[in-house]
Amino acid sequence: MSIDDLFHYSLTAYLLSEIIKSTNFLRCNQIKKRDTEQILLASILLKHIQQMICNAQTISITKTNQMDDIIFDNDDDRDEITKRFASAIFPTCALMNHSCVPNIRCIFDQGYLRVYTAKPIRQGEEILNCYGPQKSLMPSIEQRQNVLLEQYFFKCQCEGCVEIIKPHVEPIANGEN
Ligand SMILES: [Zn+2]
Repeated sequence: MSIDDLFHYSLTAYLLSEIIKSTNFLRCNQIKKRDTEQILLASILLKHIQQMICNAQTISITKTNQMDDIIFDNDDDRDEITKRFASAIFPTCALMNHSCVPNIRCIFDQGYLRVYTAKPIRQGEEILNCYGPQKSLMPSIEQRQNVLLEQYFFKCQCEGCVEIIKPHVEPIANGEN
């Protein structure tokens, strides 16, 4: 995680703790103790924000949705078919490992995250989700691996990223030297 990102997330956690502090959530009346509680609260918020980065599911909608006017609200959105508008934690979905050629796909529909198979899955075969960079949309292995390394801290070795190394075969000479 870059220093810029960490600063951004820390600032977000602090600002959220300030909002919570303005409510009656922190019940201590002593200012010094209340500050200690706020630091603890901000630390917990920062931990959750960092967990969300690796575990949250992006929620996208298509233009046919009734919320079109709210979500696709500016000129830049005119040509978009889908738009990301939120992130949420779905604990079961967060258990799935990544593949750049996933065998499921997730669709957010009327408040539910629905998981559909994208291809036949054999008994005992691992169910694999895509964390973002999908091979069909991002053909470059290097680009996909960089995206995953930066956000999820692993080098992808899925079937889409493991290239079949073909043996180097010298062209057969004509026999005329
Ligand atoms: Zn991969």
